[in-house]
Amino acid sequence: MSSIRFEALKAASSRKPVHVEELDKKSIIFGSNVFNDKAMRQFLTSEAYKAVKSAMDHGTKIDRKLADYIALGMKEWALTKGVTHYTHWFQPLTGTTAEKHDAFFETSFDGSDPVEKFGGTQLVQQEPDASSFPNGGIRNTFEARGYTAWDPTSPAFIYGTTLCIPTVFVSYTGEALDNKTPLLRALTAIDHAATEVAKYFDKNVKKITPTLGWEQEYFLVDVALANSRPDILQTGRTLLGHVSAKGQQLEDHYFGSIPSRVLNYMRDLENECMLLGIPVKTRHNEVAPNQFELAPIFEETNLAVDHNSLLMDVMQKVAERHDFKVLFHEKPFKGVNGSGKHNNWSLATDTGINLLAPGKTPNSNLQFLTFFINTIKAVFTYEELLRASIASASNDHRLGANEAPPAIISIFIGQQLTKVLEELEGVSQGKLSPEEKTDLKLNVVGKIPDLLLDNTDRNRTSPFAFTGNKFEFRAVGSTANCAVSMTTLNTIVAKQLKDFKIEVDTLIEQKDLKKDEAIFNVLREYIKQTKAILFEGDGYSDAWEQEAAKRGLSNHKTTPGALKAKVSQKAFDVFTEMNVMNHTEVESRYEIELEEYIKKIQIEGRVLGDIARNHVIPTAIKYQNTLIENVKGLKDIFGDSFEEVAKEQIIIIKKISGHIEGINANVHAMIDERKKANSLSSIEEMAHAYCDNVKPYFDVIRYHADKLELEVDNELWTLTKYRELLFTK
Ligand code: ADP
Ligand code: MG
Repeated sequence: MSSIRFEALKAASSRKPVHVEELDKKSIIFGSNVFNDKAMRQFLTSEAYKAVKSAMDHGTKIDRKLADYIALGMKEWALTKGVTHYTHWFQPLTGTTAEKHDAFFETSFDGSDPVEKFGGTQLVQQEPDASSFPNGGIRNTFEARGYTAWDPTSPAFIYGTTLCIPTVFVSYTGEALDNKTPLLRALTAIDHAATEVAKYFDKNVKKITPTLGWEQEYFLVDVALANSRPDILQTGRTLLGHVSAKGQQLEDHYFGSIPSRVLNYMRDLENECMLLGIPVKTRHNEVAPNQFELAPIFEETNLAVDHNSLLMDVMQKVAERHDFKVLFHEKPFKGVNGSGKHNNWSLATDTGINLLAPGKTPNSNLQFLTFFINTIKAVFTYEELLRASIASASNDHRLGANEAPPAIISIFIGQQLTKVLEELEGVSQGKLSPEEKTDLKLNVVGKIPDLLLDNTDRNRTSPFAFTGNKFEFRAVGSTANCAVSMTTLNTIVAKQLKDFKIEVDTLIEQKDLKKDEAIFNVLREYIKQTKAILFEGDGYSDAWEQEAAKRGLSNHKTTPGALKAKVSQKAFDVFTEMNVMNHTEVESRYEIELEEYIKKIQIEGRVLGDIARNHVIPTAIKYQNTLIENVKGLKDIFGDSFEEVAKEQIIIIKKISGHIEGINANVHAMIDERKKANSLSSIEEMAHAYCDNVKPYFDVIRYHADKLELEVDNELWTLTKYRELLFTK
């Protein structure tokens, strides 16, 4: 009997829900481990407090003297909460978070004067070894060293007994070595561009803040079961395993009652989130068995991105207490839905207006239409770059595979808004007659809020959908750091708004148009130009693939193909023009992502070869030997006529041999392809070779292994089965 699998099953089935302490009301505990406004007022001098506030709101620099006072206050606050260590907390290009803890504790060199210390220098800047993080050639061309620098716009927080200070991570020459730096630059770019445009409608607008509300999908698997699978352990997904008889076909999991063990996990997690100031709000079962979702109240984008990265870390840690493992992978199991991370995005003014929500007056609705149509134009112009921003080996299992959404980027806006755009398309060229103006105000622009109230038709297959007062970028993968897609989206919309402002101003100055007339004129042209990106139908269908090709939309089903757009002239131009990334920074990210792709496929190939040969084949042979013994015995008893009674056994024996051969031959062929791929000198060619020549063997090998799973005695099978992974609660 296969001991690991059965021991794991025994452990998993005997678990009870773990008790979770009830904390105080959420509104009371929220943010108590965050150095937020309340804590700052309490622990900082008013001068220090003002300096931090001004850095947060206007990006002003904090001078060194004040930094010392801020550090002092932060330390005092942290010590009241039992904190012993501090760390700069940053997001290197691995996509995850990094930390290195230092104790506050210090002594003189002779061991005297022990004391807890934390100064401005330690708060503001640290020097981790940049060479140990991916840098995609930045290190070769420039200096090796890098440093982390405090980001005052994202407040410090306490996790466990450590004070965590969110920081950027840059090289000594100023190139971004992380995901946060380009994001902050993109947020600045869109703030500037959008504020200029918002001033057409309200002179008082001084700042625009992009907002983000992510929805995180994930699977929970009992830790013993997860650990019994070498593929889950090393790749985060199952590389083989026959789909279980019951999957999600009965649709009985989605929004169903949450299993007790899981509910206690969620409550525990939510408590942690509350303390950390992550405003989680929604929890529910997702479509696949053992799949769940968690969503917060939306926040300013930089903070929301930090919170998502922090959350993913906290989720795994809290899961340990509940004997679960969280699978963030986009496709951990064949045959049931994968996971995504919807990024809900909008723009908010400092006057409290959501620019993607229709308002009450024709003026505010024209404002809404302006930002709405400019976003559509940006996505239309840069659809390939947006697709590239969500490309990864794991997300390839959703995009372009048989899973929503497709690899083609399109926008869903719903019937009502489609009609509005059609009407605007008819606006006259140049000056508008008074009648036309009145008609537009009353019958088109003025009707938008009423229309949107019943804009309930949701299209779940669209990768980028307008959902009433925000756009929802649904194609983002569940493992992704939101910073990458949010940097791209905010950059392209910033560029678009900048161009829009120039076009409108030109019409006002050169054609003597009124502001509204100029805006209508430009929007009309945009509507005409961008029709190809709007799609309301079924994103899964073959018909859409053909139609999209005719429309000239890209359809990159694999990462190496999709990533190429990152280093197109168009990409270099937009990122440099908007001061988000320079040439080197753009190129380095391309290289890092190709490398990551190669490594992921390489690891999967190795793990698959290993389990297919070391688990599946030996088990199959064991079972085959049992059958052979049986046939021999039958021959002893029945003599020459044994073949009649041993007929079925002999068929199975042959089948098993066939599948063993199928596995062995294909594992060999896959290894040969890996060797060939590894010998290529260009990283681009290597990525394509892994994608086109190595990866196709995964399905073939899996096919034979999964067939054997169906033949072999259940008691002998060593790998925990799908029904056990997915239905043990
Ligand atoms: P669903 O899309 O599942 O129907 P909701 O419409 O309630 O659910 O919102 C989903 C997510 O969108 C939530 O995380 C929410 O915080 C976020 N969201 C709502 N409004 C905005 C906004 N103006 N900007 C960014 N995110 C938003
Ligand atoms: Mg949603």
